[in-house]
Amino acid sequence: MPKFQRVKGMRDFLPSEASKLRHVEAATREIASLFGFEEIVTPIVERYDLLTAKSGEEIKSRMYVFNDLGGRRVALRPEFTASVARLMATSLRNEPKPLRLFSTGTLYRYDEPQFGRYREFWQSNFEIFGSDRPEADTDILSLTSDLMQKLGVKRFWLKIGHVGILRGLLTEEDVEEQQQNEVLQLMDSKRWENALQKAESLGVSADGISALKRIFRIEGKDGRKILQDTKTMLKDYSIAVSAAENLEQILDLYIQGKIGAEMIIEPRFARGLEYYTGMIFEVLVPEMDISLGGGGRYDKLVEMFGGEPTPAVGVAHGLDRISLALEEQGGLFEVSKQLVFIIPICDEVLHKALEVAKQLRKEGYNVNMEIMGRSVSRALQDAEKREANFAVIIGPREVAEGKVMLRNLTTRQQNLVDLQELPAMLLKK
Ligand code: AMP
Repeated sequence: MPKFQRVKGMRDFLPSEASKLRHVEAATREIASLFGFEEIVTPIVERYDLLTAKSGEEIKSRMYVFNDLGGRRVALRPEFTASVARLMATSLRNEPKPLRLFSTGTLYRYDEPQFGRYREFWQSNFEIFGSDRPEADTDILSLTSDLMQKLGVKRFWLKIGHVGILRGLLTEEDVEEQQQNEVLQLMDSKRWENALQKAESLGVSADGISALKRIFRIEGKDGRKILQDTKTMLKDYSIAVSAAENLEQILDLYIQGKIGAEMIIEPRFARGLEYYTGMIFEVLVPEMDISLGGGGRYDKLVEMFGGEPTPAVGVAHGLDRISLALEEQGGLFEVSKQLVFIIPICDEVLHKALEVAKQLRKEGYNVNMEIMGRSVSRALQDAEKREANFAVIIGPREVAEGKVMLRNLTTRQQNLVDLQELPAMLLKK
């Protein structure tokens, strides 16, 4: 038994895993700037009451909660949105709208560890504040589609719904919001029969139950038709119909704007978090039965946190799961960078090796140096193992002539080059 072990559910990222994670993270950052989002960094530890104010029961029961030394009840953040909403109600309150905010980092949920489900995991989070228009929803779908394409996720689709469809029906059946949550939670975990029983026990009429049953059965790629059918099925529930119309507008923009990713419209779709008020969606791949990302519209949240009434729509992408999907699909991680290995052949030229390394780093090359005093052939083997692109072999005779030996580790060809020309030579190869 080793003396110390990792905490259950926590992971180490060894170099190859860390570079994959950072590769995915870098892509989210690039998408953020391409879509005009600005980054904010918020603390991992937040007050318990903030984090529990509006998250669903499920997340609440899985939080890492503790008292700090000052006796404050705090928790590790299980999501970004509560922190961002706190800022919207305070420091960012008077910023001109719309505001596009991006954050990335770790989140903590005491889930049962399994494939793609960890207790510490990474998300990139995009939120638009200040617009209740469908083009804001479409923007969030669009950046999600672009991110997946950019990373090379080959087969993925967006599953899209609208909480207003189900909530509209339940509201018009006089079911209170808290009780609606109970029904939606059952639907979120696909327990359709239980959801119907719950609705019945909450006083939903026979017509309402039969409309729900029909809604539970429809989904499909022809979004316009699905939404037409939904409107017909729910024609007696005007709030539900206007939710379906809102989704139609988003869908039209998505199609007309040639956003790209395939999507499936699913009116019965409910997501775990209770604060959604409009369109909701998840990113799915055929290889996994868990989502790579999810989001939606939450127009009341900022207000609930004490801010001005501010419509909002956002998405969180699971970086770990995107990495897993890329591996499952045999996708390529383009994390290769030009690596130069410097090999001094004896101690007398160490100072020169250091000087060359410094010069090349200044030019922007990634430079590794032989620091074990090994022979040139052993050092070359090591450089090849580490997938370096070039070796620069430095010996006293060459140095006296102002030259070094440059070896291309892919072709294994080498030739003497002028020290001054070295950076340019690396560039050419
Ligand atoms: P949510 O914050 O629940 O809306 O989830 C958004 C995304 O975060 C999901 O689609 C997953 O990709 C990711 N995610 C959520 N929970 C976990 C977890 N326990 N482990 C890894 N990724 C997760």
